[in-house]
Amino acid sequence: MEEIRQRSLATRCIHAGQRPDPVTGSIAPPIYQTSTFAFASLEQGAARFAGAETGYIYTRLGNPTQAALEEKIADLEGGEAAVAFGSGMAAIAGVVTALVGAGDHILFGSPIYGCTYDLLMDVMRRFGVEATPVDAARPEQVERAIRPNTRLLLFETPSNPTLRLADIRALADLAHRHQITVVVDNTIMSPYLQRPLEHGADIVVHSATKYIGGHGDVVAGLAVGPAEIMARVRSTTLKNFGGIISPFDAWLLLRGLKTLAVRMERHSENALRVARYLEQHPLVMRVYYPGLESSPQYELARRQMDGFGGLLSFELLGGIEAGRTLLSAVQLCTVAVSLGDTDTLIQHPASMTHAVVPAEARAAAGISDGLVRLSVGLEAADDIIADLDQALAAVGRSQRIG
Ligand SMILES: *Cc1c(COP(=O)(O)O)cnc(C)c1O
Repeated sequence: MEEIRQRSLATRCIHAGQRPDPVTGSIAPPIYQTSTFAFASLEQGAARFAGAETGYIYTRLGNPTQAALEEKIADLEGGEAAVAFGSGMAAIAGVVTALVGAGDHILFGSPIYGCTYDLLMDVMRRFGVEATPVDAARPEQVERAIRPNTRLLLFETPSNPTLRLADIRALADLAHRHQITVVVDNTIMSPYLQRPLEHGADIVVHSATKYIGGHGDVVAGLAVGPAEIMARVRSTTLKNFGGIISPFDAWLLLRGLKTLAVRMERHSENALRVARYLEQHPLVMRVYYPGLESSPQYELARRQMDGFGGLLSFELLGGIEAGRTLLSAVQLCTVAVSLGDTDTLIQHPASMTHAVVPAEARAAAGISDGLVRLSVGLEAADDIIADLDQALAAVGRSQRIG
């Protein structure tokens, strides 16, 4: 384990957590598609339940294909241990509910993924946990919002869909002065481009549905952090809420992770080209992409990230109507939510992903009605740009007519 961690990340994407199957020599990990495991004897079964002997019992409590995935992601994020879940939301809910209880308070960076917002502001509230949105890009505002009962600080960086960055080191330092656990949703970057634990975060969560799976064919989640906390997550919320990943989906993520390095490099390269194209277009008022030198957070991006990723958003001149025309005119880009796919996906946060967030909260979080989000895929950049160009021409024509 320690030997492999000295190798570069691109190598570890392929080799971490992997060894040939001891029985057959199979290099690809076997899919242990089983719900339960035979005990050699009654005594062995009893010892496994008592925790006196390690080994598998039942797939909700652990499975070798899940374990291989957990070992790999823990290595890539630089954490002690990991727990795999059946979705990103199961991972986020699993970590949050393992760490807080009635009477506790959570701070979260706003904007945040719409369902995370709902989980914290609606579901957790019904169990006596309060949550407050804060601007994670302003550490002094975060510090002012801390209460004596604040247990958790949860944020995404970059945020979705406004691509605002939070300084992980600064936030972790201030949170730790108040004994607050820091959880970073690293979905948008993937461990190839950003490793929050290296900057002081305690726990990383992922929607593995996105870049980790990478092919738009699986829904899954991951949490990485200290062994003691991950053991608590496994033995409480994973075991008792039961939001586990299936062995086949774990295998799909192991497969996806093998190409993470080359995919993230290509996503980043394509997104930068698309961002530069959009930035000079007369119908585009603003482009949000941390890799643009014009981005106000370019320096922080260079300090904390190893690349700028595949997600960007932009504001069209003409607001909501222009956005609708653009989404109706694209041909190669697919109108769909989600991100991190091989295919370029385009969506309109105000009517899709962030529709559950109240309009005032959306506006306060900088999500204007004309904002369009693009998850730049792995197609040839020239083809993506040509499609946007013809769709923007349609927006221009509609505005001249209107
Ligand atoms: C998609 C997403 C989630 C939720 O993940 P699921 O796998 O859809 O449950 C959480 N956070 C971010 C940043 C996401 O993009």
